[in-house]
Amino acid sequence: MAELKVLISRQDIAKRVSELGAQITKDFSGESIILVGVLKGAAIFLSDLARNVDLDSTFDFIAVSSYGNRPSPTQELKSGWDSTGEVKLTKDVDQSMKNKNVILVEDILDTGLTMTYLKKMLFARQPRSLKVAALLDKPSRRKLPLEGDYVGFKIPDEFVVGYGLDYAEKYRNLADICIVPRE
Ligand code: 5GP
Repeated sequence: MAELKVLISRQDIAKRVSELGAQITKDFSGESIILVGVLKGAAIFLSDLARNVDLDSTFDFIAVSSYGNRPSPTQELKSGWDSTGEVKLTKDVDQSMKNKNVILVEDILDTGLTMTYLKKMLFARQPRSLKVAALLDKPSRRKLPLEGDYVGFKIPDEFVVGYGLDYAEKYRNLADICIVPRE
């Protein structure tokens, strides 16, 4: 594979995550929150974000997969992962969301299909509030109108890895966000 190119450095990520944490702390001042991470990509972002939030908070995790097969890594790199639009829940949260301040934590907003599905599903459980935090956002790829409430960086339509994001399950542990060249 061609060499990875750094798009967002670990220093810039740390700075932005601390700003997002401060914003959440301010917005929910005096209240408690549940951070719900979408596995596996959001695990690293959630753990850093949580340490920048100065509130009474708990974690939970959710996992989804797309109906239809995930394309081969080469295909995914070339044209992204355009699912059929149907998302399947493979792991639900462990606690009730009723009357809670829920923040869904995602690695990247791409077509918006996953987050639209998750928001709808959690909204039906009557949370007190429901917000979306996403480290990255590729607005040019959106198929459904969706805005994150706490967004780290808007990025162009590139395939990125690192800081939780994978390519065929690799590179999640890179400290920087890097572009995988499409050749
Ligand atoms: P959406 O439903 O918004 O299209 O999909 C979001 C999911 O697609 C993300 O959680 C992530 O798993 C995957 N994804 C979208 N863009 C990228 C990317 O550039 N790199 C990686 N590694 N995954 C991506």
